[in-house]
Amino acid sequence: MRTHFGVCQRKRRYASEAEALEAAAKAAVTLRPYRCALCRQFHLTGRTKGMRVPRFVLDRKKEEEGRGA
Ligand SMILES: [Zn+2]
Repeated sequence: MRTHFGVCQRKRRYASEAEALEAAAKAAVTLRPYRCALCRQFHLTGRTKGMRVPRFVLDRKKEEEGRGA
């Protein structure tokens, strides 16, 4: 993914993917961590179309389905 400088400046940075995933798991919307080419750290993006879904999203879905039935 190409990262623009402005986006990098604006976005919150995470030192590790695990940290970014933790933050993403707490968010109300589906977010996905990606490595930024500019700062070499991790940001979160809401653009998940065509991307691999993170593990916690699948787990969350499973949980919701289990509750719903
Ligand atoms: Zn960055």
